[in-house]
Amino acid sequence: MIVSQAFAGKTYAVLGLARSGLATVETLVASGARVIAWDSQEKAREAAADAVQALSNEIDGDVQLEIGDPMEIDLAGFDGIVVSPGVPLNKHPIAMRAKIAGVPIIGDIELFALARPTLPPHKVVGITGTNGKSTTTALIHHIIEQAGYPTVMGGNIGLPILSQPPLEPNLHGMGVYVLELSSYQIDLTHSLDCDVAVLLNITPDHLDRYNGFEGYVASKARLFAMQSAGHVAVIATEDEPSRSIAASVPAQLSAAKAADIDADAQLGWPALQGPHNAQNAAVAIAVAQALDIDDATIMAALASYASLPHRMQAVKTLNGVLYVNDSKATNAASTAPALGAWPAKDSKPRIHWILGGVAKSDNLDECVPYYGNVAQAYTIGEAGHMFADLLRPHMAVDDSEMLSAAVRRAARNAQPGDVVLLSPACASFDQFRDFEARGDAFAAAVSALE
Ligand code: ADP
Repeated sequence: MIVSQAFAGKTYAVLGLARSGLATVETLVASGARVIAWDSQEKAREAAADAVQALSNEIDGDVQLEIGDPMEIDLAGFDGIVVSPGVPLNKHPIAMRAKIAGVPIIGDIELFALARPTLPPHKVVGITGTNGKSTTTALIHHIIEQAGYPTVMGGNIGLPILSQPPLEPNLHGMGVYVLELSSYQIDLTHSLDCDVAVLLNITPDHLDRYNGFEGYVASKARLFAMQSAGHVAVIATEDEPSRSIAASVPAQLSAAKAADIDADAQLGWPALQGPHNAQNAAVAIAVAQALDIDDATIMAALASYASLPHRMQAVKTLNGVLYVNDSKATNAASTAPALGAWPAKDSKPRIHWILGGVAKSDNLDECVPYYGNVAQAYTIGEAGHMFADLLRPHMAVDDSEMLSAAVRRAARNAQPGDVVLLSPACASFDQFRDFEARGDAFAAAVSALE
């Protein structure tokens, strides 16, 4: 856990006591701050009180947690209100209360930024973008690890950053924190000066939380506005909003493009296939170069990188048919590259595409250029009928409704050399707890085929 003098004697309210909220409470109380914590769920409040009690015994100090709802207590004089990125700041009344009290609303990443001057010498790489953040974060972390530096990843991926032990420099050099940052997390961060800040791409998403597309773009731009001039901005300049941010960054710009990647070299990187991964790799290479990692180490690391679960993950090959779980593709822009990864062979399309769930929009526009690669579509979930109607003029469609039925029917239709691809272009909440549960259900349905 990160403990820092930066918080000694300060007062914070913490709203939301799930994983990162709990880690925040522990860091703050162990650092000598006064903390008033709240979660609407009583269970979560009790868990936080228990965790602080356990911490108090462990460090043999008198650390305490006060339970109180920041919507009810007087916030004057507080140093910050720490909220979870799940709280919609554009709608939640805490935003107005904090403003009136003159107290900043922050997240755990901002606390990490405030603690940085008290940590051993280190660097921070911050990664944002609409799609590809987790893949690129894990890839950059892998390259840095292969180069022998102490490194840890956090933010939107893995364990909360405050719950991890601070990195100690080793013989190879200083530690590198690799942070995946959603726009919600950036909104709650005010002073994170990344040594290397990364932008992958910007396409419309999460518009319910922003004042239109401009608001969403402005949120991403703030990651770069926080950088100082001597630092590096790596930006994939492949869409208009990303180019406009690149044009105005204070840091040193390193532009990256999927086209920088040699297609033959990419064939040697099993977990980084498809045009979207060329973009992720191009960005990761530029980051590694900015960190002075040598090219031979970078190339070897691209080859040894293993893909994250639920992202273009090969589940198995059965009767010559490859089954791929890309459940993490929750919008059309992230599904499109998956459809591009298996082009038609001898003008015969090979992809049996399973899609549907809770739609983010009423079209699949980003996927249209790849319709020629699809042998048949299988629609499921709430958006199933709508997508079936949308796709029928372009391809064979089976309105399967349920994922297990879709897998069985796709298996029946697929020929050796074909690919059965779950890349839903939708959120999962109508039929599954989350995208992981959806991907697991796909893998289970594939296992049941034998
Ligand atoms: P994020 O963390 O931003 O949601 P992931 O790395 O988990 O991104 O990938 C999510 C989905 O987006 C996957 O389906 C993947 O195939 C697709 N994807 C990955 N990288 C990119 C990219 N650079 N551009 C567009 N789509 C991508």
